[in-house]
Amino acid sequence: MPELPEVETIKNDLRALVVGRKITGVEVIDPQIGLHIDLGHFIPGLVGKEIVAVDRRAKYLLVRLSSGHTLTIQLMVTGQLLLVNPEEPRSKSTRLVFSLDNGQELRLNDRSKLARVHLLSEEEVSQWLSRDRLGPEPISPDFTLDVFRQLLRGRRTTIKPLLLDQSFISGLGNIYTDEVLFAARIAPTRKATDLSPAEVERIYEEMRRILKEAIALRGTTVQAYRDVLGRKGSYQTRLKVFRKAGHQCEGCPGKVAETRVGGRDTFYCPSCQT
Ligand SMILES: [Zn+2]
Repeated sequence: MPELPEVETIKNDLRALVVGRKITGVEVIDPQIGLHIDLGHFIPGLVGKEIVAVDRRAKYLLVRLSSGHTLTIQLMVTGQLLLVNPEEPRSKSTRLVFSLDNGQELRLNDRSKLARVHLLSEEEVSQWLSRDRLGPEPISPDFTLDVFRQLLRGRRTTIKPLLLDQSFISGLGNIYTDEVLFAARIAPTRKATDLSPAEVERIYEEMRRILKEAIALRGTTVQAYRDVLGRKGSYQTRLKVFRKAGHQCEGCPGKVAETRVGGRDTFYCPSCQT
C-alpha cells in the first residue's frame, strides 16, 4: 500500500507533469471507483477544467481544478496513477481514464478495486478531510519533537498500532513503521507511556530521517507501487526488517523475526529492539 513517501512521489510527479494541462475527457470504466460520487456530476465537473495544483494530505492526493473543485484520489492497496500515451494498451485493472489536452492519458489502474475518487467543492474538501481527524504530517517543519511528545502524553496504547493510527500521525503504514522502530531500537509491542524521553526522541528522529530518505529514493516498491511514469521506487534496497524474516540482522548476530502486532504482520529484531 502506498504510504507517505510513495504518495508524496506521485504528487511531485503530477506537479511536474500535469499541472497546467486541461482535462479533455473522462472515461469511467469501473463505476465502482465512484461509489461515493454522482457520475452525472463527476464527468461534467472535470471536462474542460485545467489542473492548477496538486497537493497531498496524509495518503490522499488532492488535484486542484480551475473550477475551484478538487479531485481527491485514494490509491488504497494497489492503486496506480500512470501517465501514458493513448496507444498504450489498457490493463485489465484500468478503472478510470482522464484524457489531457497534450494528447496523453492519466489512468487509474487498481487490481484490488479499493481506490476511490471524489470530486468535491472547497468546503466539501475540508469537511471530507476533517471527517478522518487526520493527525499531523510527520515531515512538516511544524512537527517538532515537542509536538510529538505532546501527542504521546497519556497514550496507553502499544507503539506500533499507535504509529499506524492515521488520527495520531498521518501517512505511516506497515513498511515504514517497522523500519522506524528497528532504527530507533524499540520493540513494536512497547506501551507508548513507558517510553523514556530518549526513546521518544529516537523514534521522532528516525521517523523523519527514514521518511525523507524514502522520498529522496522515490518510495518503496514491494508490490504494486509505481510512480506516474510506471517506474519502481528504490527504497526497498534500504529496508532492514520489513519482509526480511530469517535474514541476518544488520545490527547484531541474530535474525530478523516476524510476529503479529495489532493484527498486522510485524518484522523486528528481538535482540536489537527492546
Ligand atoms: Zn538485531
